[in-house]
Amino acid sequence: MRARLVFGHDPGPLTGAGSNAWFLPGGIPTLIDACSGRPPQLEALVGVVNDEEPPTTVAQVLVTHAHPDHAGGAAAIAVRWPTARFRKLPWPEGDERYPVAWEALRDGEMVRAGDQDLWVVHTPGHAPDHVCFFEPRSGTLFAGDLVMSGGTIVIPASIGGSLRQYMESLERVLELQPRRVLPGHGPVIDHPVSLLQGYLAHRRAREQQILTALAGGTRSVAEIVARVYEGLQPELVPAAGESVLAHLRKLEDEGRARQEAAGPGVRWRLT
Ligand SMILES: [Zn+2]
Repeated sequence: MRARLVFGHDPGPLTGAGSNAWFLPGGIPTLIDACSGRPPQLEALVGVVNDEEPPTTVAQVLVTHAHPDHAGGAAAIAVRWPTARFRKLPWPEGDERYPVAWEALRDGEMVRAGDQDLWVVHTPGHAPDHVCFFEPRSGTLFAGDLVMSGGTIVIPASIGGSLRQYMESLERVLELQPRRVLPGHGPVIDHPVSLLQGYLAHRRAREQQILTALAGGTRSVAEIVARVYEGLQPELVPAAGESVLAHLRKLEDEGRARQEAAGPGVRWRLT
């Protein structure tokens, strides 16, 4: 299977080396993720499409989830390639930001892309609409924001993220035994099974640290962040707060922790 990188040149604490979209040339030229909408990635896309022999088009855009670094280029792509179809798992609040006619994908559906069939695998957690696309013959997984080499994925607990769902999604993808992962950020992952197992182990270890902090009398999200994430860069503190909140909500779902008050002064304790 041929998949060409369309690179975003936007390195950052939350984007790793930069944002990746993937172009699959062939019978149905398909772009996986609609780019960030920033000019360098859109220019890279035009270059990759025109570089094909013969030059081709974008017939279809499959989007892993509605975050702006994955869907933000949809409108610009629709202007440049007016016959392109845009498809994703529906998330109305997220999708309405992008003025294109989204067509719904379903979990378990097989979608023709390039010259192969991709299996749509619903993998909520990072976002409720998140999907991966799996090509079973080569064992290639287009992972969106499910995993990233050299970093962890943010679970935005206050805007649709769920750590419980995220861990179930990691387990679901692990069962596919992918041989290669083409992620939404960072380099290609050639040993995805060990990375996925490492992610699960990391989250379980983090949960244990948070349980220990709660048992020791640490009560607020900010206090838990300060205790658990030592030496954190200041710009990553909000993301760490979301991650801690995601852990606390998971523990609450499981009946292991509860909130003592609502609102900004919320404090947590073990049940
Ligand atoms: Zn995302």
